[in-house]
Amino acid sequence: KSNKIADNMNAILKEKGMEDDVKVVLTGCFGFCEKGPIVKIMPDNTFYVEVKPEDAGRIIEEDLIKGEKIETLLFRDPKSGERIHEGENMEFYKKQMRVALRNCGLIDPESIDEYLGNRGYQALGKVLTSMEPQDVVDEIKLSGIRGRGGGGFPTGLKWQFALNNEADQKYVVCNADEGDPGAFMDRSILEGDAHSIIEAMAICGYATKATKGLVYIRAEYPLAINRLRKAMQDAREYGLLGKDILGSGFDFDIEIKYGAGAFVCGEETALIHSMEGERGEPTSKPPYPAEAGYWGKPTNVNNVETFANIPEIILNGGEWFKGIGTEKSSGTKVFALAGKINNVGLVEVPMGTTLREVIFEIGGGIKDGKKFKAVQTGGPSGGCLTENDLDTKIDFDSLTAKGSMMGSGGMIVMDEDDCMVAVSKFYLDFTVEESCGKCTPCRIGNTRLYEMLDKITKGNGTMEDLELMRELSETIKDTSLCGLGQTAPNPILSTLDQFWDEYVAHVTDKR
Ligand code: SF4
Repeated sequence: KSNKIADNMNAILKEKGMEDDVKVVLTGCFGFCEKGPIVKIMPDNTFYVEVKPEDAGRIIEEDLIKGEKIETLLFRDPKSGERIHEGENMEFYKKQMRVALRNCGLIDPESIDEYLGNRGYQALGKVLTSMEPQDVVDEIKLSGIRGRGGGGFPTGLKWQFALNNEADQKYVVCNADEGDPGAFMDRSILEGDAHSIIEAMAICGYATKATKGLVYIRAEYPLAINRLRKAMQDAREYGLLGKDILGSGFDFDIEIKYGAGAFVCGEETALIHSMEGERGEPTSKPPYPAEAGYWGKPTNVNNVETFANIPEIILNGGEWFKGIGTEKSSGTKVFALAGKINNVGLVEVPMGTTLREVIFEIGGGIKDGKKFKAVQTGGPSGGCLTENDLDTKIDFDSLTAKGSMMGSGGMIVMDEDDCMVAVSKFYLDFTVEESCGKCTPCRIGNTRLYEMLDKITKGNGTMEDLELMRELSETIKDTSLCGLGQTAPNPILSTLDQFWDEYVAHVTDKR
């Protein structure tokens, strides 16, 4: 639809002899999926939502020629009903802070010149001309940034380990194997701003003394792959990737590796095995990839969103980044807001923003005026939080303390009509399907858990099943080899704690 809108606009502009005055740019995601397709008129920042291809002529005629705003397409504030011209003034954007998503919805992702025009590759230039590798690692440490892929491990420390390990060859890996149901942050960043990832990987390569980069991306992200390929090609042509980058003597190039969509390949050791052509199964750590990763060489693995923050940290300083968010969780976090919520979309907020602000202000509250029931954060590894938790600050430690987790940023909202036993069954079905089968607690244990949940939701469960489920869940968590198994029972445990009555109703009323 967006392509058709752009085609129509270009054709009309040409017809009117305005093609040199107005440029139509296809950008990455604006984040406001609920109201797409979106057309934004710059520089006056008018925001048209739910645009149809046939609206192209009206937008050009009325906005660009007559200078009037098209009432039917303008966004209206859901609370006040007022029409809003400026994107930043919308409730959806007011509390957001776009660092990782800074260029998404702003630049043409297929134009390296537009990236360069928005401070692109300046951070790489800065490290190559004025910083030693240890200086770069120190700046990342100072920022306090923690891995956005789910683990929350301090990124600077990871880079330090990779730098400290001497080897004839080291690698930088970008984990783009985004697999949480409903999550699409990494895909959007790669589709909307692939150069930021290339630049960040080159900075990481310089900091850790690695000369080769690999992006492990799921093959079902064709647009992200095409944009990444184009960006890599353009960066090479501009001397920003490949041999002797910017005449600095530093060599760094990137290769794309395709994943087949297995959730477990998001785990770093499984990801590395998959890139080596082996089965995507995790192995126990140590050794960590920073010591012996891809082909046994020191390898630093970060996910897409983590990398997207790196150029801004280098340009603005670690201190600046540390000043955003909370003491132990600095910076912002991107969430894919989905489920029974008015404003479905991609949102980026400073750490420390509360769940209530995200769900009721940015998200516009619950669909059809229904009552909020729960929110699942952290995808299948996370847990359900209830109304009592709405004032919880979103940061790594607060969510974990409440029995859920940050994860990679999936946030699914449920309303009064949702059955929480069915929700936990949905997540467990996903993890059973995605288990690699290597270790018994996860392979057999989660299957047995699923069978019990199935029995309960069909009205055949007993109170003993509920106790057994809790016991088995704890055993699976304690004994599974990797994060997938260790966290798979989380949705069950959190719903057993928070929605015990619903489980009991299933087994006593046989429904
Ligand atoms: Fe494979 Fe599950 Fe064991 Fe992880 S916990 S190694 S996914 S079987």
